[in-house]
Amino acid sequence: MLDRGRLSIAAVCVGVAERLIRDSLAYAMERKQFGRPIADFQLVQAMLADSQTEAYAARSMVLDAARRRDEGELVTLEASCCKLYASEMVGRVADRAVQIHGGAGYIADYGVERFYRDVRLFRLYEGTSQIQQLIIARQMIEKAKV
Ligand SMILES: Cc1cc2nc3c(=O)[nH]c(=O)nc-3n(C[C@H](O)[C@H](O)[C@H](O)COP(=O)(O)OP(=O)(O)OC[C@H]3O[C@@H](n4cnc5c(N)ncnc54)[C@H](O)[C@@H]3O)c2cc1C
Repeated sequence: MLDRGRLSIAAVCVGVAERLIRDSLAYAMERKQFGRPIADFQLVQAMLADSQTEAYAARSMVLDAARRRDEGELVTLEASCCKLYASEMVGRVADRAVQIHGGAGYIADYGVERFYRDVRLFRLYEGTSQIQQLIIARQMIEKAKV
């Protein structure tokens, strides 16, 4: 059950990250500063690219672990890897989303600040990030013994 719950939360993290990236990209293409959309600025592009890369990595991890679980494999280690990585990833993506939105990211009108607060929960419940680290390391050690 915990493996399944951790995979579900990881999948939710991917979904929230993808929504935040979509909103951030749309805002960056619309918002103009210095006479140009802020999406033209390479430092903004770097934030978008980092978020896209991390969300893609998390999506790939979740799909791989879920497929293995569907095939009957025990995925305790993989589920914890997914929960740990995806929940930390979406925190970074939400932080960048606020940054890309500038002051608008801090006020309620755009909804980004709500995601920034809400995604903090994912690193806590169904086992904190530290607990996932313990599970992963213990699984590694157990597997190395056989
Ligand atoms: C909104 C919300 C909904 C929730 N829903 C549910 C639910 O539906 N069902 C349910 O059962 N629970 C639920 N919880 C509880 C949630 O699972 C716990 O809050 C979470 O597991 C962390 O436990 P704790 O709050 O007791 O923190 P603690 O265990 O006190 O942890 C505090 C800190 O110590 C660290 N820590 C603790 N033990 C170790 C250790 N051995 N090694 C290293 N670091 C450690 C933690 O990582 C954390 O940083 C919910 C919590 C929230 C906030």
